[in-house]
Amino acid sequence: MEHENYLFVVSGPSGVGKDSVVKKLREDHPEIAKTVSATTRAPRPGEQEGVDYYYCTQEKFQQLLAEDQIVEHNCYNQNYYGTLRSEVNRHLDAGRLVVLVIDVHGAANIKRMYPGSNTIFLLPPSTEELERRLRGRGTEDEASVERRLREARSELALKDTYDQQLVNNEVDSCASQLYQMMCRLSGKAE
Ligand code: 5GP
Repeated sequence: MEHENYLFVVSGPSGVGKDSVVKKLREDHPEIAKTVSATTRAPRPGEQEGVDYYYCTQEKFQQLLAEDQIVEHNCYNQNYYGTLRSEVNRHLDAGRLVVLVIDVHGAANIKRMYPGSNTIFLLPPSTEELERRLRGRGTEDEASVERRLREARSELALKDTYDQQLVNNEVDSCASQLYQMMCRLSGKAE
């Protein structure tokens, strides 16, 4: 579809700081679109349909998956969450930049659906630093830290399957480099 190069997938190993970098990017550039996901979990008090999520039944979610209407999805606490193709298309049609933050396993599917999209892998400054960040999260016992580190190493090995790589030395400068990269790859003016 048109403007596929306006779609950006930001991924990277657990602990690299994807959410913080994209949060800062959006604070600085609120024109960058955020998609509203579908979920099978019940709305929490104060949440609104179409604002926080599109709430749907398990059956409906399965149907959307079968129809290839879900770009990527995951399951947490027995509830499904997924990015809707219609949401992505709506923003791309309007000529907006769209950023999806996803784990390393979802990117290939997005590339299949949007071959013109840009996938960006965030790297830690070093594996030692990633270990420090994962430990810095605090409360976990040594066995779960070790498990997360093993996962992070196998996730890091996927970096070459992405179009671009960016080192997250520090959140603010990484967010700014990400924005420049997005402008360059989309051809949108800064
Ligand atoms: P919550 O139930 O607290 O709103 O979200 C639970 C988890 O689902 C969070 O980690 C959130 O990031 C994740 N999540 C929300 N929407 C999506 C989505 O569209 N795709 C994926 N893979 N995860 C999502």
